[in-house]
Amino acid sequence: MDFDLSAEQEMIKNTARDFADREIMPGAQERDRNAIFDRSIIDKLAKLGFLSPTLPEKYGGMGADFISEALIFEEIGRVDSSIRTTLSVQVSLTELPILNFGTEVQRQKYLPLLADGTWLGCFGLTEPGAGSDAANLETRAVKQGSQWSLTGRKMWISNGGLANLALIFAQTNPELKAKGLAAFLVETQTPGFSTQTIKGKLGLRSSNTAELILEDVRVPAENMLGEIGDGFKIAMWALDQGRFGVASGCVGIIQGCVNASVKYAKDRHAFGRPIAGFQLVQEMISDMVVDYEAARLLVHRAGHLKNKGVRNTRETSIAKLYASEAAVRAALNAIQVHGGYGYSDEYPVERYLRDAKVATLYEGTSQIQKLIIGRLTTGIDAFT
Ligand SMILES: Cc1cc2nc3c(=O)[nH]c(=O)nc-3n(C[C@H](O)[C@H](O)[C@H](O)COP(=O)(O)OP(=O)(O)OC[C@H]3O[C@@H](n4cnc5c(N)ncnc54)[C@H](O)[C@@H]3O)c2cc1C
Repeated sequence: MDFDLSAEQEMIKNTARDFADREIMPGAQERDRNAIFDRSIIDKLAKLGFLSPTLPEKYGGMGADFISEALIFEEIGRVDSSIRTTLSVQVSLTELPILNFGTEVQRQKYLPLLADGTWLGCFGLTEPGAGSDAANLETRAVKQGSQWSLTGRKMWISNGGLANLALIFAQTNPELKAKGLAAFLVETQTPGFSTQTIKGKLGLRSSNTAELILEDVRVPAENMLGEIGDGFKIAMWALDQGRFGVASGCVGIIQGCVNASVKYAKDRHAFGRPIAGFQLVQEMISDMVVDYEAARLLVHRAGHLKNKGVRNTRETSIAKLYASEAAVRAALNAIQVHGGYGYSDEYPVERYLRDAKVATLYEGTSQIQKLIIGRLTTGIDAFT
């Protein structure tokens, strides 16, 4: 494994860093306070190619590798996890499944619209009654001539209230359980499709999260992604991409915690000296630095395997589990370094904590990552 970034990766990282500092960071506190989703930032990210880093150029993408994708998500996650979540869902949970499982017609129809930000996508797997146990979802797909009729509800869907295209997982035959699931590309202006934005979230306040309501939504048969029975496989494959994005964003959160803590600890004086000079403060900062380095290596290792096109479920789950839990630890330490000021949104560290916590929940909780890693290590499935 080469630890150096290529010239192209360095350039992408520097561009993402400059953009994050100049265009995203300044308004992050205000957007978080008022739960504002700023579409203009997404449009600017699209112009930089950051809405489609790993899509081939022929579909309007940047044609870059997975390390480059991680670098973009790290830099954006460093300043605003809400924006990073929007980006992750667009790239990892919508574009990449279409690229990997879609027909050429589906790819040409939808990928350019997603790549340039004309359309936003969302990923509808979770339901009110089925999160970790996704195979037990209840949204029904019933064949009606040349169409499928979809009826059900999806819960906690990022970008859900804004998306033009929803990747919806539904059951075609309840007796078959996971083997009856199918994935559908649903255009959200289709009659019967509606959304309800979820308010009052602990974090990710400027990211849109919604409940999706599907009432006899008619989807053309050619909008099935893959075949009947491929739904569970597609969902799990997509989550392998999404968890990589989440882990990358968490590396960014940890870096943000280090930056904020070092600056504050050097400026703040107590007992006649900067608090950065106290060993117990340095311990908190060095714990963050060690977590940053470890999380980043795990993410880049998973990215390296993705670049080679080999199976990386284990490495991606390890990276997601470690980076998300480490981001929560780092944010708690960063608040501690800031003392009482860390408890106020005058500084970004309390937002880092609120935003880091969701990464231990979505795209598979930490417990689910442990079960995946445990199953791949022992060969025994402890899910059921
Ligand atoms: C802000 C936000 C955005 C989200 N965005 C999306 C999205 O875009 N698309 C989407 O489809 N979903 C999304 N989700 C949903 C998210 O993926 C689920 O919340 C998550 O998978 C957990 O499911 P659940 O909430 O139903 O919890 P449950 O599955 O009910 O789990 C509750 C608790 O039980 C534990 N548990 C469950 N099963 C086991 C087991 N076998 N062994 C040990 N412990 C277990 C869990 O780890 C957890 O601690 C989002 C969630 C949030 C909060």
